[in-house]
Amino acid sequence: MATVAVHGLRKSFGDVQALDGVSLDVPDGSFFVVLGPSGAGKTTTLRAIAGLEKLDAGSVHLDGRDATGDDPAARDLAMVFQNYALYPRHTAYENIASPLRARRCSSSEVAAAVERVSGLLHIERLLQRRPAQLSGGEMQRVALARALVRSPRAFLMDEPLTNLDLKLRVEMRTELTRIHRSLGATFVYVTNDQVEALSMADQVAVLKEGTVQQVGTPTEVYERPANRWVAGFVGSPRISLLACHAEGDRLVGAQGWTLPRPRWTTAEDGRQLLLGVRAEDLSVEQRGNASLAGELYALEPLGDRTVIDVRVGTEMLKVKARPTVTGTPGERLLVTVDLDRAHLFDADTGLALS
Ligand code: ATP
Repeated sequence: MATVAVHGLRKSFGDVQALDGVSLDVPDGSFFVVLGPSGAGKTTTLRAIAGLEKLDAGSVHLDGRDATGDDPAARDLAMVFQNYALYPRHTAYENIASPLRARRCSSSEVAAAVERVSGLLHIERLLQRRPAQLSGGEMQRVALARALVRSPRAFLMDEPLTNLDLKLRVEMRTELTRIHRSLGATFVYVTNDQVEALSMADQVAVLKEGTVQQVGTPTEVYERPANRWVAGFVGSPRISLLACHAEGDRLVGAQGWTLPRPRWTTAEDGRQLLLGVRAEDLSVEQRGNASLAGELYALEPLGDRTVIDVRVGTEMLKVKARPTVTGTPGERLLVTVDLDRAHLFDADTGLALS
C-alpha cells in the first residue's frame, strides 16, 4: 500500500497564494502527474507531500494515515529534482549506494541493490565514472537510480527531465513508464509539459494558480476538459475557441457564421458560449454540412502534418491537415467542423457544458 493524499492545502509566500486549497488523491501504484504552467504551485505541492514546506492549512495522508506533522525522513519518500545533485567526487556507484550506506546496509545488500537499479536504468557500464565524466542524460539516470535504490513508500519527481535534450527526454519518458510498470510503485510527477503528462500518466491533476482545475485520465482531460482553461492548456496545437450562442437549431457565431446546433448540447438560446474545437476535428476538406468560411492566414509544416491557421473574422482557427497541403495566405477556405467532437463552454464561467 502506498497511497498519497492531500486535503485543502493552503500556502502563501508573502502576497503570493501558492496553494489555494489543493486536494489530491493518488491511488496506490499509480503514475500521477501534476501538470500546470510555471507558478501554478506544483513544486510547493510536492514539497508539502515531502514535508519540506510548512503549510498554512491542510493535511497530508500517507497510506491513509495523517502524516502532516511528520519529519521528512519519517515519511519514507524519495524525491528526484530537475538538478541532479550528485556528489561530484563520488563514482556513480557510490552516488547510487549512498542512501543505503546511510542506512547501514551490508556491502552485499548494497551491491545487489545497485546492480538491480543499474540494470533497470541501463547504466551498468557507467558505474565507475564520476559525474563530470557523464552526460546530462547519464547523470539524470544515475540520480534516478539513487532514488530508486531504496524502495521508498513513493517517488516524488519534480520535472526530472527538464534539463535533457528533446531526444533524451522522449527516450526517458518511455524508460520512466517502463520503470514505473516494473516497480509497481506510486509516482507523483510534476511537469509543465503536457506531452510528458499525457504520455506517461495514469491520472493527471491540472493545476492553475494554486487550485486544481481537473483530475482525470489523460484521455478524460484531453477529450472532456472541465473548463476552457484546461482545454487551452492541454493539447497542441491549442484548441480553437469561437464566441457564439445557440438559437433554435443553430449555433450563431459572433463573427457572423452559423453551424448546426450539436445534438448533445443543452445550452439554452441566447446564452453566451465558446465553441472549442481541436485542430484534428477541423478539416479543410469538404465533409458534411458544418463548415465555416475563412481565409488562410499561415501554414506551419511540421513534417508529419501541417497546421493551417485560418482566420474567421477576427478569430483564428488551427486546423490539422495532411503534410502535402498547399495554399497561399489570403486564399478563401471552407473549414469543416466535427461537431460531435467539439466542446461548448459557458463564456462567463468558462465551465464546460454537456
Ligand atoms: P515552476 O513550474 O516554475 O517550477 P510551480 O508550479 O512549481 O512553478 P511553485 O514553485 O510551487 O510553482 O510556486 C508557486 C508560487 O509560489 C509562485 O508564484 C512562486 O513564485 C511562489 N513561491 C514558491 N516558493 C516560494 C518561496 N520560497 N518564496 C516566495 N515565493 C515562493
